[in-house]
Amino acid sequence: MRILVHGGAGRIEPEWEEAVLSGVKRARDAGWAVLASGGSALEAAVEAVRVLEDDPAFNAGTGSALNRQGFVEMDAAVMIGEGLRFGGVAAVRDVKNPILLAREVMDSEHILLSGEGASLFARERGIPRHPPEALVTERALARWQRIRRQGGRTSGTVGAVALDAQGRLAAATSTGGIVDKRVGRVGDTPLVGAGTYAEAGLGAASATGEGEFLARALVAYRAVTALKTRSPEKAADEALALARELGGQGGLILLAADGSFAAVHTSPQMSHAWRGPEGEGAGLA
Ligand code: ASP
Repeated sequence: MRILVHGGAGRIEPEWEEAVLSGVKRARDAGWAVLASGGSALEAAVEAVRVLEDDPAFNAGTGSALNRQGFVEMDAAVMIGEGLRFGGVAAVRDVKNPILLAREVMDSEHILLSGEGASLFARERGIPRHPPEALVTERALARWQRIRRQGGRTSGTVGAVALDAQGRLAAATSTGGIVDKRVGRVGDTPLVGAGTYAEAGLGAASATGEGEFLARALVAYRAVTALKTRSPEKAADEALALARELGGQGGLILLAADGSFAAVHTSPQMSHAWRGPEGEGAGLA
């Protein structure tokens, strides 16, 4: 069994370091508790991401980045190795936990629902409307105003990968995307193999960083596939190197079917935490 989570690539403001580190640890512990009580890799990854979405220190769910018109649009996805099952939502505006909605999409006839359609589907599945204003935090607003004043690119994402006692693998990723993105912009997170990927017997990955580049490099799929011949560290490094060649920085958590794993990044930092049979760890670098 193993759980590995990330709280996004980028630079963490010094005054937020403590909150971010304790946030990824809390999410890891929540995911581990699911695994330890016999839960599935999917349930564990979703639970870890749900905890991060509710934590305002991260750019996902509450505390998501604001788009060019000053409101939140979120992307999220889940995937399990068995049967390559996938569910995602894109540019959804009015749910508290996009990852729970992505999980519902996985159990539908579709793989990806966006915008208003995702909201309609949420209501159908009993997920209540969450007021869009309630997703906006003071910190996200200040960040957005700073970016609009000074320019630059900042973002963040949360993700988890898990391996359960039965050897099943799952990946889950959720994001508010890039600050000041165009309305309707969708990044790598909810695209199969771009930000999120899992394959039975091989591995699971969740990416973070500049989505336009990560998606073109299909980093999550590329890293998982490379596990056939590479260590997790090398596989993740190579996938991110391609995204970097294309012009984008990022990070990746990668978990192999044998429980070996890597948390690597080409961005200045990537918060992450993990737990397995031998112990646990966490870091901001
Ligand atoms: N990958 C996310 C996106 O492009 C943002 C991030 O992880 O920083 O939407």
